[in-house]
Amino acid sequence: TLQDRLAATFKSLRSKGRLTDADIDATAREIRIALLEADVNLSVVKEFVSRIKERASGAELSRALNPSQQIIKIVNDELVSILGGETRLLRYAKQPPTIIMLAGLQGAGKTTLAGKLGAWLKEQGHSPLLVAADLQRPQAVEQLRVMAERAKAGIYAPQPGNGVGDPIQVAQNSIDYAKHHLFDVVIIDTAGRLGVDTEMMRQAQMIKALTKPDETLFVVDAMIGQDAVNTALAFEQGVGIDGVVLTKLDGDARGGAALSIARVIGKPIMFASNGEKLTDFDIFHPDRMASRILGMGDMLTLIEQAEKAFDAEESAKAAEKLMGGGGQFGLDDFLAQMQQIRKMGPLSKVFGMLPGASNMKAISEIDEKQVDRVEAIIRSMTPAERADVGILNGSRRARIARGAGVEVRDVNELVNRFVEARKMMQSMGQMMPGMPGMGGGR
Ligand code: GDP
Ligand code: MG
Repeated sequence: TLQDRLAATFKSLRSKGRLTDADIDATAREIRIALLEADVNLSVVKEFVSRIKERASGAELSRALNPSQQIIKIVNDELVSILGGETRLLRYAKQPPTIIMLAGLQGAGKTTLAGKLGAWLKEQGHSPLLVAADLQRPQAVEQLRVMAERAKAGIYAPQPGNGVGDPIQVAQNSIDYAKHHLFDVVIIDTAGRLGVDTEMMRQAQMIKALTKPDETLFVVDAMIGQDAVNTALAFEQGVGIDGVVLTKLDGDARGGAALSIARVIGKPIMFASNGEKLTDFDIFHPDRMASRILGMGDMLTLIEQAEKAFDAEESAKAAEKLMGGGGQFGLDDFLAQMQQIRKMGPLSKVFGMLPGASNMKAISEIDEKQVDRVEAIIRSMTPAERADVGILNGSRRARIARGAGVEVRDVNELVNRFVEARKMMQSMGQMMPGMPGMGGGR
């Protein structure tokens, strides 16, 4: 899946110290393959990949993030932007009733959506009326009636005298009915064919012309991939749509449809359906969809927090030292870095947000008390000692241990671990000192 592929790509980057042009090219290639496999429209893929490459090579080196995190962030930002950025909310009519028309192919999930939307609107304090303007199949009206009952919404369906057999008439009449019976939102469920055809389009056009919906929502099965784009284009051209609803996201939907539709049609995705139950439904959140496509768990939350918590300048200084310029990386820098990390929250939680880390035994064993002890030891040192652990002889170590209320061997262990970690990190040129040195037990 798209998620797996991207996750593998990012994982291979995670061990890198810094990004080379070759890394960026290789990553871009992987992202391209992943998107094409996910059935994303080719022109969307091309544009997307070239944006990623551009931004990755021009990226201001973030002090808080390592290269893999930087790429993830760039890809995520671009995904969110393609998916519409902000959530687009339903527009209500100034003068009720608000009219919502549902259009889309047969089986897309329109009737189900009418029920879900009805229940959701009820919850928001509205009084929705479901209108059966799909008279194509005999069961269609009955299906909507069941939905209305479950959603506790009103139903307007053909009966003798109100235009049996004519969906256009039914839709038109339903508006007056809503006004008289104080329904403030009208949801018109229309007919769909298995493929786009002119008769269906004509009917949808007529219904739209006569009822003047505030929102015409194109409902599409996220599982149909590439075809979703063509169908959406046909509906946009034939009827004119204001927004898109993705259904069946609970299935094996690969996210390709969402990306392509949003980009090619240029209409916002407004709602998402992810199951057959009335409650399997929500407002569409571009950022959540992006995380879903990336499959990165809470990685993004962690990245955001890291960016916030890290004082850029301080980290920059430490990184520079670590890379070999501007003096030796000392325990003072280590302490500062450690405090930056602790600002993000309890350590077990911070590390738990790393993908795959939540089930690592070591994570659950991170002991805040131990970290407190490390802090205490460093604080008991003089500035000169912090800057150069080389001067720590036996008597200095004994004094520090007393000051921190620990054993001398605790001081020794910290110093040894620090020196080891610094060596390791200098050879990897990593940007986040302190992290590997803090994880283990005693
Ligand atoms: P319509 O022809 O566009 O009105 O589509 P329906 O509302 O009748 O839905 C077609 C089928 O898809 C029905 O079996 C629904 O239960 C099912 N369905 C609709 N939405 C979803 C969804 O979000 N997830 C899943 N798994 N099934 C859905
Ligand atoms: Mg239907």
